[in-house]
Amino acid sequence: MSKERIDALRQLIRQYNTEYYAYDQPSVSDAEYDRVMHELQELEKQFPEYGDPESPTQKVGGAILDSFRKIKHKRPMLSLGNVYNRDEVFAFVQRVKEETGNEDIVVELKIDGLAMSVWYAEKKLNYAVTRGDGEVGEDVTHNVRTIKSLPTTLDLENEIEVRGEVYLPKKNFDEINRIKNEAGEELFANPRNAAAGTIRQLDSSIAAKRGLDAFWYYFPDAESFGLNSHYESLQWLKAKGFKTNPYTKRCKGADEVWEAIEGFTELRSELPYEIDGIVLKADRFADQKTMGYTARTPRWASAYKFPAEEATTRLVDIFITVGRTGRITPNAKLEPVRLAGTSVAFATLHNQDNIADKDIRIHDFVVVRKAGEIIPEVVRSLAEKRDGSQVPYVFPDTCPSCGGRLERLPQEASHYCINPDCPARVIESIQHFASRDAMNIEGLGYKTVEQFHSLGILETIESIYTLKDRREELIVLPGWKEKSIDKLLNAIETSKQNSLEKLLTGLGIRQVGEKAARSLAIHFETLENLQDADEETLSRIDDVGGITAASIRSFFVEEHNIDLLNRLKIHGVNTTCLIPKPKQSRFSGLSVVVTGSIEGMGRSEAEAWLANAGAKVSSAVSKKTDLVVYGEAAGSKLQKARELGVSVMSADEFLEEVKRDA
Ligand code: NAD
Repeated sequence: MSKERIDALRQLIRQYNTEYYAYDQPSVSDAEYDRVMHELQELEKQFPEYGDPESPTQKVGGAILDSFRKIKHKRPMLSLGNVYNRDEVFAFVQRVKEETGNEDIVVELKIDGLAMSVWYAEKKLNYAVTRGDGEVGEDVTHNVRTIKSLPTTLDLENEIEVRGEVYLPKKNFDEINRIKNEAGEELFANPRNAAAGTIRQLDSSIAAKRGLDAFWYYFPDAESFGLNSHYESLQWLKAKGFKTNPYTKRCKGADEVWEAIEGFTELRSELPYEIDGIVLKADRFADQKTMGYTARTPRWASAYKFPAEEATTRLVDIFITVGRTGRITPNAKLEPVRLAGTSVAFATLHNQDNIADKDIRIHDFVVVRKAGEIIPEVVRSLAEKRDGSQVPYVFPDTCPSCGGRLERLPQEASHYCINPDCPARVIESIQHFASRDAMNIEGLGYKTVEQFHSLGILETIESIYTLKDRREELIVLPGWKEKSIDKLLNAIETSKQNSLEKLLTGLGIRQVGEKAARSLAIHFETLENLQDADEETLSRIDDVGGITAASIRSFFVEEHNIDLLNRLKIHGVNTTCLIPKPKQSRFSGLSVVVTGSIEGMGRSEAEAWLANAGAKVSSAVSKKTDLVVYGEAAGSKLQKARELGVSVMSADEFLEEVKRDA
């Protein structure tokens, strides 16, 4: 039984990790995730015979996507252990004292963003990498460069690494979600997911627009600069121009630590950025070394996590919503209750197993929780408050929208309505098709789609393109005028010129998001080529693994999907990729590193030119490098290239190539 539970929890946490880390779309709250993780940790402690180095309790982060160049960390990037209350904070400080003889602890804010490692060499910002799975991260230099507060040059020759947290200020987060809400798009669950979603955009103008920022809190090379403690290293970073967080306190002993935690907790609501806890770190490097690391966390640090905000209320009813993919979500209708500053009348119940596990019944008193996330969830029912009026919930076996049979796929916790014509699914899919990341039809948000659908005007994706024939009917509809209808019809016409990846995103093929759609469009160039590709060819494309490949194949097997695509073509919707192709040049396909300064051209400009000329630009020289372009004051990289026998090209020669191309 315990083994089965351990396996089930591991599988569940892996699924949550993929949703959270790879797709920035968690399906449960952090508090719920922490609860199942804690249960697994306790069971593994109790039954060490079932220990497994592959268990999520031993791992950092989750799967990483292929859209970005991978960079291996020179030293692993770890997570943090957690403490949840005063006793656990005291126990942590006690452990530091017992193991090191000291109790010097730095207390600082736990910024709710994502960890970033930035590397400088030869006085310049070289590259920036996400934490990824702790061993290998994603190269997101182009987006990190949009952070205005980050120095791009340093008064320092040495190669150094600095780590910190990239985040979105609260007001930017609210603004992004406001825009998403208007466009009827799915909202980011919290600022951390918004920051992660932003940093992993291919187009850096999106990150620039959204306004990322960062605090820098770790300088792993500190000792080689004669520094002895974490606190000193933060001062050093600040002096070098890195933005460090002002709420950082050096404490001695548990009482001072707890006092600092209480003080910082009070600040929380006034800060212009989200924090999800407070980090405690043994200050002296010598003490950090004594305490060392586990596979997943430093033993010399811990995160005090804020208690989630909870409230008790009565669950009035349970109702089902149907998503675009047919996914069925049970929701609780609540007697409105105040929670985290807002009135909450609905909460998610996630899935059938969750309702059964927690024995949640209609008319139960329930505890509702909101932990930074936008959608609150029902945490548990209060069986002791039952008065006989409670009714167990019978999970439906048919879809509440179309009456079709519900199915539960193996390995999934959710049920699905499999009827492609289900009205709820149709509304969601039309709205998805029109959304900003897909065909970007301004004015065709959820409410409009719902209104037109209920009137029988918009029943399929195709019918978006026949709306123009019904202009007279539309302009007299409540809420519409000639001007607003013409604006909408214009936006629909314009969408026909979109590049193929926008159409592919809009089709809602399972697993095919914006990134996969872009890779597919670039690779296959036309819809016909993509349609003809077999599963193996598909699975070799960047961002398209085996599961996505299978899902694309099964989409193209369905006759009604082919019909839809043919009809869209007849309406004039473009089905070719319009993303400019990298040029063929002598650099095509080569792995190139640029080092030193190139007169009249910044390093990133030179790199962008090379990428455009079809080269794979990288920052480190290895045996796999084909060419090193070197400018003035080129240092260790040029030397390494010579040692490895890698071809080199001088800045003058390179500039000749650029001139020839102009
Ligand atoms: P974590 O967020 O609990 O702690 C580690 C991270 O804290 C570091 O990697 C760093 O990014 C950050 N941090 C912020 N300020 C810091 C500071 N001053 N010093 C050092 N680090 C600082 O751990 P994690 O491994 O990043 O993520 C695990 C957590 O993520 C879970 O506890 C859960 O809350 C959430 N999660 C949720 C889901 C879900 O489905 N909802 C899935 C996976 C993870």
